[in-house]
Amino acid sequence: MNSLSHPHSPAGVTVIGGDGVGPEVVQAAMALVDASGATIAWEMVEAGAKSFARGIDSGVPDETFESISRNKVVLKGPLETPIGHGGKSANVTLRKTFETFANIRPTRELPGIITPFSGRGIDLVIVRENVEDLYAGIEHMQTPNVAQCLKLISRLGCQRVSSAAFALAESENRSQVTVATKANIMKLTEGMFKSEFEDVATRYPHIQTNHLLIDNCAHQLVVHPEQFDIVLTTNMNGDIISDLASGLVGGLGVAPSANIGYEVAMFEAVHGSAPDIAGKDIANPTAMILSAVMMLRHIGQFEPAEKLEQALFLTLEEGIHTSDIATGEAYGTAAFTAAVMERLGKESSVPSREHRAFEIAPVTTADSDVHPGSRTKVGVDVFVESSDSPEQIAHTLTQVTKNTGFQLKMMSNRGIQVWPSRGVQPSVVDHFRCRFSVNDPAAWSDEMVLGLLAKVSPAYRWMHVEKLESHNGALGFTKAQGEN
Ligand code: NAD
Repeated sequence: MNSLSHPHSPAGVTVIGGDGVGPEVVQAAMALVDASGATIAWEMVEAGAKSFARGIDSGVPDETFESISRNKVVLKGPLETPIGHGGKSANVTLRKTFETFANIRPTRELPGIITPFSGRGIDLVIVRENVEDLYAGIEHMQTPNVAQCLKLISRLGCQRVSSAAFALAESENRSQVTVATKANIMKLTEGMFKSEFEDVATRYPHIQTNHLLIDNCAHQLVVHPEQFDIVLTTNMNGDIISDLASGLVGGLGVAPSANIGYEVAMFEAVHGSAPDIAGKDIANPTAMILSAVMMLRHIGQFEPAEKLEQALFLTLEEGIHTSDIATGEAYGTAAFTAAVMERLGKESSVPSREHRAFEIAPVTTADSDVHPGSRTKVGVDVFVESSDSPEQIAHTLTQVTKNTGFQLKMMSNRGIQVWPSRGVQPSVVDHFRCRFSVNDPAAWSDEMVLGLLAKVSPAYRWMHVEKLESHNGALGFTKAQGEN
């Protein structure tokens, strides 16, 4: 990552003020960064609601893409996602276009903010994979009655975000990375995340690692959050537990984040545009200020970062709070920002943490994993729509697929084997996975699959086909619940 700027030349940073409370909190953060002694050349650009209103379907104008590509560092306000009309989320577009594959969300007990967890010393970071998983957004109505969303996980995606988690541990002198998955149920997708993490971990023997199932991790985050240092997880899991974690230390108004890739890094508050409080001078700028502190460290301006963080901590410690967290008098956004400004150069009671440059090591996936020496086709899953009983469907398919080179072996309904019957018949919907094994793997050809589909088609509407392969002898598919 080429994030370190020369100490005397201003670092170019693209700024997106954003929507709702965005401009208020971004202006506050910029003013404080400038006053902290940092040397930044800000470049203001637009994205979000104003861009959608100008007819830019992506919500991100070309000038914005160009500015980010050049500066590679972004301070970003929240962007509204249009609901019920037009464009996709401009946030997701930015994260995906610039491959910011690691979402980093520190959760630290803040001085002066009283929560049910105060005094426990919570100081953890959630690292969430940011571009893969269910967020690929590939969804299909399999039947008018059954919807499907594809969960796509790649070895490279797992490796690079694992590498980011270890880079973070090294840059902040942290000693433990916990990987949290659902590998017990999703053995191939979440299982890959776990195994690729374990592979990357061998390069960091000085950092302790452990694995928790994500449900247990959520529980542990509530009952014993101080045990965690860095928690690494997949996109969907991370979406949920990172919001949970911000709730432990004061909520959305104080939760910062970074979206980091090999090239581009974007720093933003976790909260959205908060339209209910926009323009009223009551938004808490803490989350955006802490995001700016993360940005300063990312570009190697450690001293201004420390100065700003300490001034912010001291402000909070002295009970100067905005209305979202105040128990007494509430300060407005501008007054709170001025209070932080006055305290620049003073220290809080929170000890400083050592920070070093954050550099994600490049990763390469093992060639034997990506190009296995042996790939054997063992069958095909054909998904069909039907309201017939499992017995009827099995009888019909067995008859019509004679002499295709395939044999119906098993049928499942939403993952549960329904034929051959296991005795108790589970309730079924009109979506059946029909698993055919190939009689002679050596004779496999795609024409045989097309021949099979041509026989199935007159009997049942099929909508989805998956080839079943084994790679280096390991099954490249999972068995149904109850399948032998
Ligand atoms: P939100 O985070 O904007 O607001 C949720 C609640 O938290 C509101 O009551 C709000 O007043 C409060 N809040 C948020 N930030 C605050 C702050 N700094 N200080 C004090 N209170 C604060 O979530 P939402 O209402 O679900 O979303 C509003 C819009 O923001 C939507 O269009 C959504 O798509 C978008 N959004 C954008 C991002 C992003 O750009 N990264 C993230 C989340 C939501």
